[in-house]
Amino acid sequence: MMLKQILSPAEKTAVKKMLDDAQNVVITCHTSPDGDAIGSSLALWEYLTRKGKSATVIVPNYFPDFLKWMNGADRIILYDRNRALSRNLFNRADLIVALDYNEPSRLDEETTPFGYSNAKKLMIDHHENPERFCDLQISRSKLSSTCEVLFRVLDSIGELSNLNKHGAEDIYAGMCTDTGRFSYNSNDPEIFYIIAELMKKGIDKDKIVRNIYNQNTEGRYRLMGYILLEKMQIVSELHAAYYAITKEELQRFKYIKGDMEGVVNMPLEIKGMKVVIALREDTEKEQINVSIRSVDDFPANEMAERFFNGGGHFNAAGGRLFCSLDEAMQITLAAINAYRDRLL
Ligand code: 5GP
Ligand code: MN
Repeated sequence: MMLKQILSPAEKTAVKKMLDDAQNVVITCHTSPDGDAIGSSLALWEYLTRKGKSATVIVPNYFPDFLKWMNGADRIILYDRNRALSRNLFNRADLIVALDYNEPSRLDEETTPFGYSNAKKLMIDHHENPERFCDLQISRSKLSSTCEVLFRVLDSIGELSNLNKHGAEDIYAGMCTDTGRFSYNSNDPEIFYIIAELMKKGIDKDKIVRNIYNQNTEGRYRLMGYILLEKMQIVSELHAAYYAITKEELQRFKYIKGDMEGVVNMPLEIKGMKVVIALREDTEKEQINVSIRSVDDFPANEMAERFFNGGGHFNAAGGRLFCSLDEAMQITLAAINAYRDRLL
């Protein structure tokens, strides 16, 4: 079986030339990197390193411990901790790659070297409505993950043989995390063809899943229990749920970054539920982080744009509010009520 081609002939030539011509590559991904961001970054890093390039992954800030098993994760540079070194690498780069984000603002605003650099810029991503900020943008919002886009790009330019086992592990990890272990956004049969190709590289997919998912802290499980028991509010008539959690509550459960990852999906497993909105006070900044998850035809991203200064995917979106948690709860209720007709 041959994968459907996602690149036009012109794009194929352009991306091949960009990667061939580059000598010093800086690979970037979005703030608070997730499995797809880190997976695609390290997979590309593996590939470029194998091709004899000097490549560095610079991410805006901390990424979760459950991604640190990946080969090369210990060599990732955190921009917010290594500004001078990062700027230097950005300045020396002749190619900067933007992975898993569709607008430069998804980097921290301080990650400005991106904008100022004279390097060529290549974007590979799967978020809707990309801004134009790179010389070449390979943006495919119908695909499960940036890792899937990257796999298809390597396949298109005939470079799959230069994807090593580590790179295959990284791509599997990104596809797996962006689809909830292939439980959503994963109805394209070619996804399973891609997995088969990755497995031929020798990956142990079961171990990857354990490495990613069976790494919870005790605090996370107690926090989940607390949220489900004490905090979750259900508007049963509208098939909606929401919860709000304060900094103090997070501290009580010895919260570390990532502990809330995926918790927003849990109320969605209640029978009939259509949308879940999670509000979380940021532990560092004066803001409330908003996560929205939905099923079927409920537009989480539209709700995020209209009410929460955000956006995202159709069924998974996010945003932020700059007000008290009480006011944020009012906004949340207003948002749910605004969609009353679609939620009934
Ligand atoms: P999360 O709830 O995990 O923070 O975010 C869910 C999804 O929404 C992620 O795919 C993320 O990329 C997207 N997202 C979060 N905030 C924003 C935003 O401000 N703008 C856009 N376009 N997407 C966002
Ligand atoms: Mn992604």
